[in-house]
Amino acid sequence: MKLEWGAATHTGLVRETNQDSHVADGKVFAVADGMGGHAGGEVASRIAIDALRSALAVEGDSSELFAESFEKANLAILAQADEDSRLSGMGTTMTAALFLEDGTSDRFLVRNIGDSRAYILHEGDLHQITNDHTYVQQLIEEGSISVEEGKHHRQRHILTRVLGVETSANSDVFTVTPQPGDVLLLCSDGLFNHVVDHEIAAILASSESPQRIAEMLVEKANLGGGTDNTTTIVVRVLPEKAASHKKVLPVAGDETAMLGEAVGPRVTVNPVSRGPVLSSIPTPLGKKQVSSGSRLVTVRSVLFFILVLLLVGGTAWVVNAYANHAYYVGTANKRVAIYHGRPGGVLWYQPSLVETTSLPLSQLNGTQYFDVSHDVLEPSLQAARAYVTNLRAQIAFEKSQVPKTTTSPTSTTTTLTAPTTSTTTTAAG
Ligand code: MN
Repeated sequence: MKLEWGAATHTGLVRETNQDSHVADGKVFAVADGMGGHAGGEVASRIAIDALRSALAVEGDSSELFAESFEKANLAILAQADEDSRLSGMGTTMTAALFLEDGTSDRFLVRNIGDSRAYILHEGDLHQITNDHTYVQQLIEEGSISVEEGKHHRQRHILTRVLGVETSANSDVFTVTPQPGDVLLLCSDGLFNHVVDHEIAAILASSESPQRIAEMLVEKANLGGGTDNTTTIVVRVLPEKAASHKKVLPVAGDETAMLGEAVGPRVTVNPVSRGPVLSSIPTPLGKKQVSSGSRLVTVRSVLFFILVLLLVGGTAWVVNAYANHAYYVGTANKRVAIYHGRPGGVLWYQPSLVETTSLPLSQLNGTQYFDVSHDVLEPSLQAARAYVTNLRAQIAFEKSQVPKTTTSPTSTTTTLTAPTTSTTTTAAG
C-alpha cells in the first residue's frame, strides 16, 4: 500500500506563537499541541515529537516501541520542566499514526493523549478515530450534556490527560485498516473548533494533493476565526494498480470493525457522520388501483402537500428560534464583542455583531481570554452584557491587588477533581 501525504501548520490570527509541533515522514505522522507559559508550550510539543521519532528509530517491535515512545516523551517533558523552573507546568497533547507495512495487512496504529484528533475519510464519510481526553468529553460520556452542547461548552478546553503532568502517559491506541482511497487526518483543536465536520469531509474528499488539502484546512480554520494554532496532517492511501482487484471487500454493515478495532481498554471508534441507512420502501402488492384523476387521489395529494408545508414551516420555525434566541460574547477587532445568534451560525442563520465593547482583549487574563476567544454563549443580550460587566469588574479587581507572589496572573492552568481515574486537568493551550 502506498501513501502520499502533506502537512501544514499556522499560528492563527490571535496567538503570538505557534505551540503546535508535528512530524510527517511517511512512516510516522504526529501532531502535538503544547501548553504552558514562558515558551513551555513550544518546548513541550517539540520534546514530545522528538522523543517519538527517536524512540521509533530503534530496531524492535514497532507497536511496542510506539507505546514506549509516549512514555519516553512524557518523562522527557517532566525532566526538562524539572531542570528549568520557568517551564514547570508545561504539557502537550500528542496524536500519532504509525504506518505498519507487513504485506497482506497494512495498517495504521493510532495513539493519542489529549484532544488533538485523528479522523479517517472512508467513502465520503468522516469518522473520528480518537476520543478527546477532556472534561467535556467525560460529561458527554456520562450523558450529562449532548455532543452539540459540548461544542460550545465554556470548559471544553480543559484536558483530563496530557503528556508532562503525571508520571505515566495514559494513551489510547487504535488499529485502523485503511482501504485504497481513504484519507487519514491528524489535527490540533484549532481545526475542529473552527471548521465543522461536513466541511472537513468536503475538503478531505477533494482531488487536490494532500499537501494542498492540509493547507486548505488551515486556511479554513483561520477564516473561521483562527483563535488558536492549527496543525493538519493529511495522508492519502493510494490505490494499488496490480493488487486492487484482489482486495477483500468490506462486509456491509461491518464498517466499524473494519475502520478501527479497539486494542486498548475503553477504546471505541466514533463515527462522526454516516450516510443514511438505505432501506427499500416496500411496495404494496395487490393494492386496489385508484384510477388517475379520481377524487380520492386529489384529496390525498392535497392533504400530503399540506402536511409537507406544515413540516417545512415547523422546522424553519424551530431552526429560527434556536438560531436567534441566543447571544454570545466573542471577539471583534481585538476587543470583546457581543453577537446575536450562535457561534458558527445555524444553517442559513449567521450570527451578527451587536456591539464591539471598549474592552481590549489584551486586558484579559489567560482564563478570560480563553473563554472569550472561544465564544461564551448567553441566553439574552442582557446576560451577555452582564458577562462583559463582570469581566471588567474582575480586571479592575485584579489591578487593585498588590502582587504578592511571582505567580503568573496569565496562567490558564486549572485543577479539578475528575470523577474517574484521572485527576489532573489542564487548560489546553
Ligand atoms: Mn490548540
